[in-house]
Amino acid sequence: RPRVLSGIQPTADSFHVGNYLGALRQWVDLQATHEAFYSIVDLHAITVEHDPELLRRRTRIAAAQLLALGIDPERSTLFVQSQVPAHTQLSWVLECLTGFGEASRMTQFKDKSVKGGADRSSVGLFTYPILQAADILAYRADLVPVGEDQRQHLELSRTLAGRFNGRFGPTLTVPSPHILKETAKVYDLTDPSAKMSKSSPGGALDLLADVKGSVKKIRSAVTDTGRDVVFDPENKPGVSNLLSLLSVFSGTPVPALQASFEGRGYGDLKKELGEAFAAFVTPLQASVKEYLDDPAELDALLTVGAGRAREVADATVSDVYEKVGLLLR
Ligand code: ATP
Ligand code: MG
Repeated sequence: RPRVLSGIQPTADSFHVGNYLGALRQWVDLQATHEAFYSIVDLHAITVEHDPELLRRRTRIAAAQLLALGIDPERSTLFVQSQVPAHTQLSWVLECLTGFGEASRMTQFKDKSVKGGADRSSVGLFTYPILQAADILAYRADLVPVGEDQRQHLELSRTLAGRFNGRFGPTLTVPSPHILKETAKVYDLTDPSAKMSKSSPGGALDLLADVKGSVKKIRSAVTDTGRDVVFDPENKPGVSNLLSLLSVFSGTPVPALQASFEGRGYGDLKKELGEAFAAFVTPLQASVKEYLDDPAELDALLTVGAGRAREVADATVSDVYEKVGLLLR
């Protein structure tokens, strides 16, 4: 079976619907057809300033959410990145194959370092995409389900795999992105021109947030001029975003939804989305809580996952180290 790998950062108290639509839904589905490796990438989460206790708590909350959403630890390998040293071991080799200019062209660094400026951002934030390449290449993954914002990083992973193979002989698998067009980019509820992000919580619709608060947040979402509920991302980015979300949570295709809103306004759209979202997250939140009630069990499950991940990733690192001329470990 082909392999799939993906990761998510434990950078917030909850995942948001952008994470779910752009990535996590595909993670769950791909378990049926692929050998899956899913990682909570905590090493990526320390590239920006963070609180240690909060990070530990968020890592467990992330695991609980993935399990509640349907990641099956029997079928898939669910693990925490920092518990598998191969990621950083491979990352160094890949850093030595990456041009400084090439790394400088990664736009996420610019986006995430705007506040403090590049001078005050960490080198870890700068090399983030190379660690991400190592995350993927260590498992020789064929497919990587991500949102549109990760396309550029995926391209770098492909380039680095190809470069390594060209220089040292066929070793690494060149991964393909798996980006679903309709849900590749969910927009911020308060600013439909920006990506919904864990790092801008104001406009994010969080899976674990208080449901009443979320319904309110949907009600005050920024919409567009006019009154017709039509899917037109160019001219009606706010309304189109809400329609995409409602489509997923109601299981109704966008064109059918649009037809059902004929003669009705934005208020009805928001009301239906609020109801559909509440129906989705209410049982999910109960399930997350159950997982979190037993942190020892959760940690044990992640330890097993890390063990399985290590076997696969260590083999790749040994292969890579040998190819580049390091003495065998
Ligand atoms: P941060 O702000 O900390 O970077 P994030 O919300 O971007 O958080 P990540 O952990 O970086 O979340 O990304 C996890 C996955 O979710 C990635 O595959 C990413 O492409 C996807 N993703 C993140 N935001 C969106 C979005 N708004 N729409 C679609 N997919 C998204
Ligand atoms: Mg992100």
